Amino acid sequence: MRSVRLAAGWVLPIENPPIADGAVLIGSDGRILALGPDAHVPRPDGFPSYRFPDAAILPGLVNAHTHLELTDLAGQVEEDDFPAWIRRLREVKEQHRLEHYLAAAKRGVAACWASGVTTVADTGDRTVVMQALAECGGSGIVYQEVFGPHPDQAPASMEQLRETVASLRRFESDRVRLGISPHAPYTVSGPLYRLVAEFARAEGLPVAVHLAESLAETQLLGAAAGPFAEAWRRRGIPLPPLPGCSPVAWLAEHGVLNERTLCIHVVQVDSDDIARLKAAGVGVAHCPRSNRRHGHGEAPLARLLEAGVRVGVGTDSVVSVGSLDLLAEARAARALAGLSWERALSLVTLEAARAIGLEQHVGSLAPGKWGDVAIIRLRETQHSPVEGVLTSAADQVMATYVGGRRVFEEGIR
Ligand SMILES: [Zn+2]
Repeated sequence: MRSVRLAAGWVLPIENPPIADGAVLIGSDGRILALGPDAHVPRPDGFPSYRFPDAAILPGLVNAHTHLELTDLAGQVEEDDFPAWIRRLREVKEQHRLEHYLAAAKRGVAACWASGVTTVADTGDRTVVMQALAECGGSGIVYQEVFGPHPDQAPASMEQLRETVASLRRFESDRVRLGISPHAPYTVSGPLYRLVAEFARAEGLPVAVHLAESLAETQLLGAAAGPFAEAWRRRGIPLPPLPGCSPVAWLAEHGVLNERTLCIHVVQVDSDDIARLKAAGVGVAHCPRSNRRHGHGEAPLARLLEAGVRVGVGTDSVVSVGSLDLLAEARAARALAGLSWERALSLVTLEAARAIGLEQHVGSLAPGKWGDVAIIRLRETQHSPVEGVLTSAADQVMATYVGGRRVFEEGIR
């Protein structure tokens, strides 16, 4: 039984203004039946009812970029240079078995819930995050990664991806969706990008790609130079043809960018790239703290938003940012682009849901959407409930619900 009636000092629907002394009613199918001022929301018999006077009820947060399989690896890769960091992460990942990653992913799901996040857009290659979400009763899109920088590797990489996708289909549900992630332009060849894009279209799968993240990536595609180019040369991988182009232009040329593509990072872009992204209709996952940690510079968030690109905020992995604190990311995005508190909260709720194509189901409180809810304690000094939520510490989440089921409760971790 998932029916529940939740009331609080504030309800923040996101699509509509905050409601003082509000309530949310979630039906037995896990979807929202009604919300509004407490006095107006029905009190059906048999619905357990909880009240949080000093808190705000908001839609469960949507993290537009995670790597939950890496949950236990925080602090294990300290290299400052990005290509060296990537290489070291790959070595560290080889040290653990599959069971380790499944358990880590489940801890990652629980950590998300404890911080009010109910939906993730996750990328990884260990094939465990879908299973973790399915078994824990979580929600999200899991993009299975595929690699292969040498064009000769494309058929084998593609074959393996087909097999993995077929086996992951068993975990698909209304709440847990499958996608694919041709990892990044410095780890995937042009021919493989084309094959993956065709496969995604044929299979109806969304795609996520790390894109225009580092200067090294821009140098590789633009000038066949820089540290990634040197690494390719050493490994006998043919370099991109000259004259080069930007990473965004390169992916557009290979048929990868469309409405079902999520572009992660998007730091190294100019106005032509932003226009290309807008024209293609992609979503963008903006990861401000990760970009800073790796010294990639700052993404042109304000310009992306002005251009009307769908943008959501994500954390990236704990290996990059230490802990998954999506509200801290929202604050960083707000500071970077000079946004209002309301807009910043929207970037981790409704706009993040839009960026990954799930806005019909999650991201705001509205009848018919999933009963995914975070309840966050408000301090007395806040100026508005939205500011109160955004400036709250990560441990101020009192309870989290996914589809009307309580998945996290303060004091029980
Ligand atoms: Zn990432």
